[in-house]
Amino acid sequence: MGRRARTFVVSGPSGVGKGTLVSLLRERVSSLGLTVSATTRDPRPGEKDGVAYYFLTDEEFDRHVEAGDFLEWAWVHGHRYGTLRQEVRRLTDAGSSVMLEIDVQGGLMVRERVPDAVLVFVEPPSMEELERRLRGRGTESEAEVERRLANARREMAQAPLYDVRIVNDDLERACSELRQVIDTYENNGGPSQDVCDQARD
Ligand code: ADP
Ligand code: 5GP
Repeated sequence: MGRRARTFVVSGPSGVGKGTLVSLLRERVSSLGLTVSATTRDPRPGEKDGVAYYFLTDEEFDRHVEAGDFLEWAWVHGHRYGTLRQEVRRLTDAGSSVMLEIDVQGGLMVRERVPDAVLVFVEPPSMEELERRLRGRGTESEAEVERRLANARREMAQAPLYDVRIVNDDLERACSELRQVIDTYENNGGPSQDVCDQARD
């Protein structure tokens, strides 16, 4: 059976290292397309419009919702985030697998709309380490850190709904595991028992 382009969703609590992991993976798997999401939150220093996100006003976001332009969208940490259908099309038209780095509500919506999507949940080694990373990143205010930690507990409870779980302890190890998951699903249309077991350990 040949290689098959797939849709991969990566979710996990804020600060677990999704962005870091996905950008390392993309250095190694250049064919993997990453969708750029739309959001109503403000850009962080250094975030460029159209690269990190499409930064939209509430009115612009509303217009896309009304026009049915989103594959999925959700309220996350007090702001709206969504994946534009056009963005997924742009990447799948090129014949490559696509990756969506989105929250759990969005991930479950994608599973309904793209039934063969593969949902990967990234877990922290511990809640203490998650808090260290979130604070260490230094991009959020104290109130925002608290809000994200509270949401993290809720999100972690939904990890069992995902197809694959990866613990981001050592970045290199987690990246190899994610790469193996992608290879397996692209090649066989599903995991062998080995990878399934490894990914859930
Ligand atoms: P997310 O995208 O999930 O919100 P980030 O990728 O921004 O998280 O990572 C949050 C912080 O944790 C960053 O400072 C990043 O450098 C750090 N980090 C990511 N992965 C690891 C890891 N495996 N070990 C230690 N620190 C990590
Ligand atoms: P941040 O503000 O730290 O960039 O992202 C906050 C959260 O929004 C993360 O959990 C991230 O996965 C989620 N997110 C980013 N883009 C999307 C999207 O397009 N849809 C959904 N549902 N969540 C998103």
